[in-house]
Amino acid sequence: MTCGEAEPLLPLVADGVLDPDGDPALFAHLARCQSCQESLARHDLVTLALERAPRPAPRTIRIPWPVAVAAAASLVLGVGAWLWPGADAAAAQPTGPVVHRLPGAEGEAPLYLIEGEQGGVVVDPSAIDGGSEAGAAGAVPVNLRRR
Ligand SMILES: [Zn+2]
Repeated sequence: MTCGEAEPLLPLVADGVLDPDGDPALFAHLARCQSCQESLARHDLVTLALERAPRPAPRTIRIPWPVAVAAAASLVLGVGAWLWPGADAAAAQPTGPVVHRLPGAEGEAPLYLIEGEQGGVVVDPSAIDGGSEAGAAGAVPVNLRRR
């Protein structure tokens, strides 16, 4: 085995993937080649450093906006039903919230009005795209009571 053949295998040795039983020729070369021994030592240091490195932060999960709207609606409407004194379980109809698409201003994204039994919220989908908490905070409650 030559140094050129051994070099690409050294990371596997450093990671413990290869052992003398798995590749006797490589380890025979390592036993007598100082250049490859030094190279292996560097790989060992890299492996050690990577094991000690802080783990990367978990990636932010982007929630598709219809899911975020539904989540914000259920949150807001659920809290609303709880806050309105006139709302009780008997009065609550098993109808789900209705989503209306409102045309946005010139050049602006459309808004979504989510109408429930106790009122509604206007949601800007751009504010909730990405699934952050700011989406629910950006929902604007509106009073939709009709006569
Ligand atoms: Zn060598």
